[in-house]
Amino acid sequence: MLAMDYRGARRVRAQQKPMPEIQHPRDVIVRVTRSCICGSDLHLYNGAVPDTRVGTTFGHEFTGIVEDTGGAITSLKRGDHVLVPFNIACGQCAFCLEGLFGNCHESNPGATAVGGIFGYSHTTGGHQGGQAEYVRVPFADVGPMIIPPDIEPDNAVMLTDVVPTGYQAAEMAGIQPGDTVVVFGAGPIGIMAARCAWLFGAGRVIVVDELDYRLDFARQYAPCEVHNFHTMKDPVLFIKKATGLGADVCIDAVGAEAAGRAMQSVLGRKLKLQGGSSTALHWAINSVRKGGVVSVVGVYGPTATMVPFGNVVNKGITIRANQASVKRLLPRLVEHVRSGIIDPKALITHRFSLEDVSNAYRIFSSKLDGCIKPLLIPPTAE
Ligand SMILES: [Zn+2]
Ligand SMILES: [Zn+2]
Repeated sequence: MLAMDYRGARRVRAQQKPMPEIQHPRDVIVRVTRSCICGSDLHLYNGAVPDTRVGTTFGHEFTGIVEDTGGAITSLKRGDHVLVPFNIACGQCAFCLEGLFGNCHESNPGATAVGGIFGYSHTTGGHQGGQAEYVRVPFADVGPMIIPPDIEPDNAVMLTDVVPTGYQAAEMAGIQPGDTVVVFGAGPIGIMAARCAWLFGAGRVIVVDELDYRLDFARQYAPCEVHNFHTMKDPVLFIKKATGLGADVCIDAVGAEAAGRAMQSVLGRKLKLQGGSSTALHWAINSVRKGGVVSVVGVYGPTATMVPFGNVVNKGITIRANQASVKRLLPRLVEHVRSGIIDPKALITHRFSLEDVSNAYRIFSSKLDGCIKPLLIPPTAE
Protein backbone atom coordinates (compact mmCIF):
# COMPACT_ATOMS: atom_id res chain seq x y z
CA MET A 1 0.00 0.00 0.00
CA LEU A 2 1.00 3.62 -0.43
CA ALA A 3 1.83 5.56 2.74
CA MET A 4 3.54 8.71 3.88
CA ASP A 5 7.04 7.91 5.11
CA TYR A 6 9.22 10.02 7.43
CA ARG A 7 12.86 10.08 6.35
CA GLY A 8 14.27 12.67 8.78
CA ALA A 9 13.68 16.31 9.58
CA ARG A 10 11.77 18.04 6.77
CA ARG A 11 11.94 14.99 4.54
CA VAL A 12 8.82 12.96 3.87
CA ARG A 13 7.73 10.98 0.84
CA ALA A 14 5.03 8.66 -0.40
CA GLN A 15 6.24 5.09 -0.43
CA GLN A 16 4.98 1.52 -0.82
CA LYS A 17 4.77 -0.25 2.55
CA PRO A 18 3.40 -3.60 3.74
CA MET A 19 -0.34 -3.77 4.33
CA PRO A 20 -1.25 -3.50 8.03
CA GLU A 21 -2.65 -6.66 9.56
CA ILE A 22 -4.98 -7.51 12.41
CA GLN A 23 -2.69 -8.11 15.41
CA HIS A 24 -5.29 -8.32 18.18
CA PRO A 25 -8.96 -9.36 18.29
CA ARG A 26 -9.95 -5.75 19.07
CA ASP A 27 -8.20 -4.35 15.93
CA VAL A 28 -9.79 -3.27 12.71
CA ILE A 29 -8.13 -2.35 9.43
CA VAL A 30 -9.49 0.82 7.87
CA ARG A 31 -9.17 1.86 4.22
CA VAL A 32 -8.50 5.56 4.55
CA THR A 33 -10.74 7.96 2.61
CA ARG A 34 -9.43 11.25 4.00
CA SER A 35 -6.46 12.16 6.13
CA CYS A 36 -5.51 15.63 7.34
CA ILE A 37 -2.10 17.05 8.00
CA CYS A 38 -2.24 18.64 11.44
CA GLY A 39 -0.27 21.61 12.72
CA SER A 40 1.11 19.23 15.32
CA ASP A 41 2.39 16.96 12.51
CA LEU A 42 4.72 19.84 11.67
CA HIS A 43 6.43 19.39 15.06
CA LEU A 44 7.18 15.81 13.91
CA TYR A 45 8.10 16.94 10.40
CA ASN A 46 10.56 19.49 11.79
CA GLY A 47 12.21 16.82 13.96
CA ALA A 48 11.04 18.55 17.16
CA VAL A 49 9.38 15.51 18.78
CA PRO A 50 11.68 12.98 20.53
CA ASP A 51 11.80 9.40 19.24
CA THR A 52 10.26 10.13 15.86
CA ARG A 53 11.69 7.21 13.96
CA VAL A 54 12.61 7.14 10.31
CA GLY A 55 10.07 4.97 8.52
CA THR A 56 7.11 6.16 10.58
CA THR A 57 3.83 7.06 8.91
CA PHE A 58 2.21 10.16 10.43
CA GLY A 59 -1.48 11.01 10.48
CA HIS A 60 -3.89 11.07 13.41
CA GLU A 61 -6.88 12.73 11.73
CA PHE A 62 -8.58 10.34 9.33
CA THR A 63 -11.79 8.78 8.16
CA GLY A 64 -12.17 5.55 6.27
CA ILE A 65 -14.06 2.39 5.50
CA VAL A 66 -13.74 -0.71 7.66
CA GLU A 67 -11.91 -3.32 5.60
CA ASP A 68 -11.30 -6.10 8.12
CA THR A 69 -12.26 -6.71 11.74
CA GLY A 70 -10.66 -8.65 14.57
CA GLY A 71 -12.57 -11.49 16.23
CA ALA A 72 -13.74 -9.42 19.23
CA ILE A 73 -15.28 -6.60 17.19
CA THR A 74 -19.07 -6.62 17.12
CA SER A 75 -19.79 -2.87 16.88
CA LEU A 76 -18.29 -2.47 13.40
CA LYS A 77 -18.48 -4.45 10.21
CA ARG A 78 -16.75 -4.42 6.86
CA GLY A 79 -18.00 -1.47 4.78
CA ASP A 80 -18.83 0.85 7.68
CA HIS A 81 -17.74 4.47 7.15
CA VAL A 82 -15.97 5.60 10.30
CA LEU A 83 -14.24 8.60 11.77
CA VAL A 84 -11.42 7.67 14.11
CA PRO A 85 -10.46 9.84 17.13
CA PHE A 86 -6.79 10.79 17.13
CA ASN A 87 -6.24 9.29 20.56
CA ILE A 88 -6.33 5.54 21.02
CA ALA A 89 -8.25 4.45 24.09
CA CYS A 90 -8.86 1.02 25.62
CA GLY A 91 -12.13 2.06 27.25
CA GLN A 92 -11.39 -0.03 30.34
CA CYS A 93 -8.51 1.49 32.31
CA ALA A 94 -9.05 3.88 35.21
CA PHE A 95 -8.44 6.91 33.01
CA CYS A 96 -10.73 5.85 30.19
CA LEU A 97 -13.44 5.11 32.76
CA GLU A 98 -13.05 8.69 33.96
CA GLY A 99 -13.57 10.01 30.42
CA LEU A 100 -9.90 10.87 30.04
CA PHE A 101 -9.65 9.10 26.68
CA GLY A 102 -6.52 11.09 25.80
CA ASN A 103 -4.71 9.60 28.79
CA CYS A 104 -5.42 5.90 28.31
CA HIS A 105 -3.04 3.75 30.31
CA GLU A 106 -3.08 0.78 27.90
CA SER A 107 -2.63 2.30 24.45
CA ASN A 108 0.81 3.72 25.24
CA PRO A 109 2.24 1.08 27.55
CA GLY A 110 4.93 2.27 29.89
CA ALA A 111 4.10 5.93 29.45
CA THR A 112 2.77 7.87 32.40
CA ALA A 113 1.39 10.94 30.62
CA VAL A 114 -0.22 10.84 27.20
CA GLY A 115 -2.05 7.81 25.84
CA GLY A 116 -1.57 6.34 22.39
CA ILE A 117 -1.91 8.57 19.34
CA PHE A 118 -1.85 7.47 15.71
CA GLY A 119 1.34 8.38 13.88
CA TYR A 120 2.81 10.56 16.59
CA SER A 121 6.26 9.13 17.41
CA HIS A 122 7.16 6.36 19.82
CA THR A 123 6.54 8.73 22.74
CA THR A 124 2.82 8.14 22.09
CA GLY A 125 3.06 4.42 21.51
CA GLY A 126 4.67 4.08 18.09
CA HIS A 127 1.34 3.50 16.34
CA GLN A 128 1.39 3.94 12.56
CA GLY A 129 -0.74 6.80 11.28
CA GLY A 130 -3.47 7.31 8.74
CA GLN A 131 -1.65 9.24 6.01
CA ALA A 132 -1.77 6.00 4.11
CA GLU A 133 -4.10 3.86 2.09
CA TYR A 134 -4.74 1.55 5.06
CA VAL A 135 -4.22 1.79 8.80
CA ARG A 136 -4.56 -0.56 11.76
CA VAL A 137 -6.88 0.78 14.44
CA PRO A 138 -6.34 -0.80 17.88
CA PHE A 139 -9.16 -0.94 20.48
CA ALA A 140 -11.55 -0.37 17.59
CA ASP A 141 -14.57 -1.24 19.71
CA VAL A 142 -13.95 2.02 21.62
CA GLY A 143 -12.72 4.85 19.38
CA PRO A 144 -14.16 4.73 15.87
CA MET A 145 -17.60 6.20 15.31
CA ILE A 146 -19.81 5.27 12.38
CA ILE A 147 -20.30 8.52 10.45
CA PRO A 148 -23.95 9.53 10.58
CA PRO A 149 -25.29 9.73 7.01
CA ASP A 150 -26.11 13.44 7.31
CA ILE A 151 -22.57 14.40 8.34
CA GLU A 152 -20.50 15.35 5.31
CA PRO A 153 -17.17 13.54 4.91
CA ASP A 154 -15.13 16.76 5.17
CA ASN A 155 -16.87 17.58 8.45
CA ALA A 156 -16.36 14.04 9.72
CA VAL A 157 -12.58 14.17 9.34
CA MET A 158 -12.48 17.47 11.23
CA LEU A 159 -14.27 15.78 14.14
CA THR A 160 -11.26 13.51 14.73
CA ASP A 161 -9.15 16.31 16.25
CA VAL A 162 -9.68 19.94 15.20
CA VAL A 163 -13.23 20.39 16.46
CA PRO A 164 -12.85 18.49 19.76
CA THR A 165 -9.47 20.03 20.55
CA GLY A 166 -10.67 23.57 19.85
CA TYR A 167 -13.86 22.90 21.77
CA GLN A 168 -12.06 21.37 24.75
CA ALA A 169 -9.71 24.37 24.86
CA ALA A 170 -12.75 26.56 25.45
CA GLU A 171 -14.38 24.04 27.78
CA MET A 172 -11.30 23.70 30.01
CA ALA A 173 -11.09 27.49 30.23
CA GLY A 174 -14.25 27.57 32.33
CA ILE A 175 -15.48 30.64 30.46
CA GLN A 176 -18.01 32.71 32.40
CA PRO A 177 -20.67 34.83 30.68
CA GLY A 178 -19.11 38.01 29.33
CA ASP A 179 -15.49 36.88 29.73
CA THR A 180 -12.77 38.24 27.52
CA VAL A 181 -10.96 35.31 25.90
CA VAL A 182 -7.58 35.69 24.21
CA VAL A 183 -6.49 32.84 21.94
CA PHE A 184 -2.81 32.58 20.99
CA GLY A 185 -2.46 30.89 17.61
CA ALA A 186 -4.67 31.17 14.52
CA GLY A 187 -4.10 27.70 13.18
CA PRO A 188 -7.17 25.46 12.79
CA ILE A 189 -7.22 24.69 16.54
CA GLY A 190 -6.96 28.34 17.59
CA ILE A 191 -9.62 29.35 15.08
CA MET A 192 -11.91 26.58 16.34
CA ALA A 193 -11.22 27.50 19.99
CA ALA A 194 -12.18 31.11 19.22
CA ARG A 195 -15.38 29.95 17.55
CA CYS A 196 -16.24 27.67 20.49
CA ALA A 197 -15.48 30.34 23.11
CA TRP A 198 -18.75 32.01 22.10
CA LEU A 199 -20.65 28.80 22.79
CA PHE A 200 -19.55 29.03 26.43
CA GLY A 201 -20.70 32.63 26.78
CA ALA A 202 -17.60 34.71 26.00
CA GLY A 203 -18.28 38.41 25.70
CA ARG A 204 -15.18 39.23 23.69
CA VAL A 205 -12.78 37.01 21.74
CA ILE A 206 -9.35 38.13 20.58
CA VAL A 207 -6.96 36.01 18.48
CA VAL A 208 -3.22 36.73 18.28
CA ASP A 209 -0.92 35.27 15.61
CA GLU A 210 1.80 36.35 13.20
CA LEU A 211 0.16 35.43 9.90
CA ASP A 212 -2.26 37.96 8.48
CA TYR A 213 -4.04 35.49 6.19
CA ARG A 214 -4.91 33.27 9.13
CA LEU A 215 -5.96 36.23 11.25
CA ASP A 216 -8.22 37.39 8.42
CA PHE A 217 -9.79 33.94 8.30
CA ALA A 218 -10.25 33.86 12.09
CA ARG A 219 -11.82 37.31 12.10
CA GLN A 220 -14.54 36.18 9.74
CA TYR A 221 -14.97 32.60 10.89
CA ALA A 222 -15.00 32.89 14.69
CA PRO A 223 -15.83 35.87 14.40
CA CYS A 224 -13.41 37.79 16.58
CA GLU A 225 -10.93 40.63 16.99
CA VAL A 226 -7.51 39.77 15.62
CA HIS A 227 -4.03 41.16 16.19
CA ASN A 228 -0.66 40.41 14.61
CA PHE A 229 1.98 40.26 17.34
CA HIS A 230 4.60 41.62 14.98
CA THR A 231 2.77 44.94 15.14
CA MET A 232 3.06 45.00 18.94
CA LYS A 233 6.08 46.07 20.90
CA ASP A 234 5.09 43.80 23.78
CA PRO A 235 2.11 41.42 23.34
CA VAL A 236 1.58 41.13 27.11
CA LEU A 237 1.36 44.89 27.62
CA PHE A 238 -0.84 45.15 24.54
CA ILE A 239 -3.36 42.66 25.91
CA LYS A 240 -3.33 44.17 29.37
CA LYS A 241 -4.02 47.56 27.86
CA ALA A 242 -6.74 46.21 25.56
CA THR A 243 -8.51 44.35 28.37
CA GLY A 244 -8.00 46.59 31.41
CA LEU A 245 -7.01 44.09 34.09
CA GLY A 246 -5.83 41.37 31.73
CA ALA A 247 -7.81 38.71 29.86
CA ASP A 248 -10.18 36.55 31.91
CA VAL A 249 -9.04 33.54 29.92
CA CYS A 250 -6.01 32.85 27.73
CA ILE A 251 -5.84 29.83 25.44
CA ASP A 252 -2.49 28.52 24.18
CA ALA A 253 -3.22 26.92 20.81
CA VAL A 254 0.38 27.15 19.63
CA GLY A 255 2.59 24.79 21.60
CA ALA A 256 6.21 23.91 21.20
CA GLU A 257 7.18 25.75 18.05
CA ALA A 258 6.06 29.21 19.02
CA ALA A 259 7.73 32.15 17.32
CA GLY A 260 8.02 35.58 18.82
CA ARG A 261 10.92 35.43 21.25
CA ALA A 262 14.46 34.71 20.12
CA MET A 263 15.64 33.26 23.44
CA GLN A 264 12.78 30.76 23.58
CA SER A 265 13.40 29.74 19.98
CA VAL A 266 17.09 29.12 20.63
CA LEU A 267 16.59 27.18 23.87
CA GLY A 268 13.54 25.22 22.84
CA ARG A 269 13.73 24.79 19.08
CA LYS A 270 17.42 24.91 18.19
CA LEU A 271 19.22 23.59 21.29
CA LYS A 272 16.25 21.48 22.53
CA LEU A 273 17.09 22.37 26.13
CA GLN A 274 13.38 22.44 26.93
CA GLY A 275 10.27 20.80 25.53
CA GLY A 276 9.91 23.43 22.84
CA SER A 277 9.60 27.18 22.72
CA SER A 278 7.00 28.19 25.30
CA THR A 279 6.56 31.77 24.11
CA ALA A 280 2.79 31.47 23.73
CA LEU A 281 2.49 29.96 27.21
CA HIS A 282 4.55 32.81 28.68
CA TRP A 283 2.31 35.35 26.99
CA ALA A 284 -0.80 33.51 28.20
CA ILE A 285 0.35 33.38 31.83
CA ASN A 286 1.53 36.96 31.84
CA SER A 287 -1.45 38.52 30.11
CA VAL A 288 -4.28 36.70 31.91
CA ARG A 289 -5.78 38.64 34.81
CA LYS A 290 -5.21 37.71 38.44
CA GLY A 291 -7.43 34.74 39.23
CA GLY A 292 -7.84 33.99 35.53
CA VAL A 293 -7.59 30.70 33.65
CA VAL A 294 -4.97 29.54 31.16
CA SER A 295 -6.08 26.65 28.96
CA VAL A 296 -3.40 24.82 27.01
CA VAL A 297 -3.99 22.55 24.03
CA GLY A 298 -0.79 23.41 22.17
CA VAL A 299 1.49 20.39 22.04
CA TYR A 300 4.67 20.40 24.12
CA GLY A 301 7.38 17.78 24.25
CA PRO A 302 7.67 15.45 27.24
CA THR A 303 10.81 17.19 28.50
CA ALA A 304 10.78 20.14 30.90
CA THR A 305 9.52 23.48 29.66
CA MET A 306 10.41 26.74 31.37
CA VAL A 307 7.31 28.61 32.47
CA PRO A 308 7.05 31.66 34.75
CA PHE A 309 5.61 29.60 37.59
CA GLY A 310 6.03 32.34 40.19
CA ASN A 311 3.56 34.41 38.21
CA VAL A 312 1.11 31.50 38.16
CA VAL A 313 1.24 31.28 41.97
CA ASN A 314 1.26 34.99 42.68
CA LYS A 315 -1.57 35.77 40.29
CA GLY A 316 -3.67 32.83 41.45
CA ILE A 317 -3.98 31.46 37.94
CA THR A 318 -5.69 28.18 37.15
CA ILE A 319 -3.93 26.25 34.40
CA ARG A 320 -5.81 23.48 32.66
CA ALA A 321 -4.32 21.41 29.89
CA ASN A 322 -4.82 18.13 28.10
CA GLN A 323 -5.08 16.36 24.82
CA ALA A 324 -8.73 16.45 23.80
CA SER A 325 -10.92 13.61 24.97
CA VAL A 326 -12.39 13.11 21.52
CA LYS A 327 -14.68 10.19 22.31
CA ARG A 328 -16.25 11.99 25.28
CA LEU A 329 -16.99 15.09 23.18
CA LEU A 330 -18.14 13.50 19.91
CA PRO A 331 -21.87 13.15 20.65
CA ARG A 332 -22.38 16.85 21.40
CA LEU A 333 -20.01 18.01 18.65
CA VAL A 334 -21.82 15.94 16.04
CA GLU A 335 -24.96 17.80 17.14
CA HIS A 336 -23.22 21.18 16.81
CA VAL A 337 -22.07 20.29 13.29
CA ARG A 338 -25.49 18.95 12.38
CA SER A 339 -27.21 22.14 13.52
CA GLY A 340 -24.67 24.34 11.74
CA ILE A 341 -23.34 25.96 14.94
CA ILE A 342 -19.92 24.73 13.88
CA ASP A 343 -18.96 24.42 10.20
CA PRO A 344 -15.59 22.68 10.34
CA LYS A 345 -15.18 21.92 6.63
CA ALA A 346 -14.79 25.66 5.97
CA LEU A 347 -11.26 25.37 7.39
CA ILE A 348 -10.15 22.91 4.70
CA THR A 349 -8.30 25.01 2.13
CA HIS A 350 -6.26 22.39 0.26
CA ARG A 351 -6.57 18.87 -1.13
CA PHE A 352 -3.58 16.82 -2.20
CA SER A 353 -3.32 13.28 -3.46
CA LEU A 354 -1.34 11.07 -1.07
CA GLU A 355 1.35 10.69 -3.76
CA ASP A 356 1.92 14.43 -3.41
CA VAL A 357 2.50 14.27 0.36
CA SER A 358 5.96 15.82 0.23
CA ASN A 359 4.60 18.88 -1.55
CA ALA A 360 1.66 19.06 0.86
CA TYR A 361 3.98 19.18 3.88
CA ARG A 362 6.17 21.77 2.19
CA ILE A 363 3.26 24.10 1.43
CA PHE A 364 1.63 23.67 4.84
CA SER A 365 4.83 24.06 6.84
CA SER A 366 5.93 27.10 4.84
CA LYS A 367 2.46 28.64 5.25
CA LEU A 368 2.23 29.13 1.49
CA ASP A 369 -0.81 29.71 -0.67
CA GLY A 370 -3.13 30.72 2.18
CA CYS A 371 -3.04 27.17 3.55
CA ILE A 372 -5.03 26.58 6.74
CA LYS A 373 -5.96 22.89 6.64
CA PRO A 374 -4.74 20.43 4.01
CA LEU A 375 -6.36 17.08 3.23
CA LEU A 376 -4.60 14.06 1.76
CA ILE A 377 -6.65 11.75 -0.43
CA PRO A 378 -5.25 8.23 -0.98
CA PRO A 379 -5.59 6.63 -4.44
CA THR A 380 -7.81 3.92 -2.95
CA ALA A 381 -10.17 6.42 -1.30
CA GLU A 382 -13.11 5.93 -3.65
ZN1 LIG B 1 -4.19 16.99 14.87
ZN1 LIG C 1 -7.67 3.14 28.65
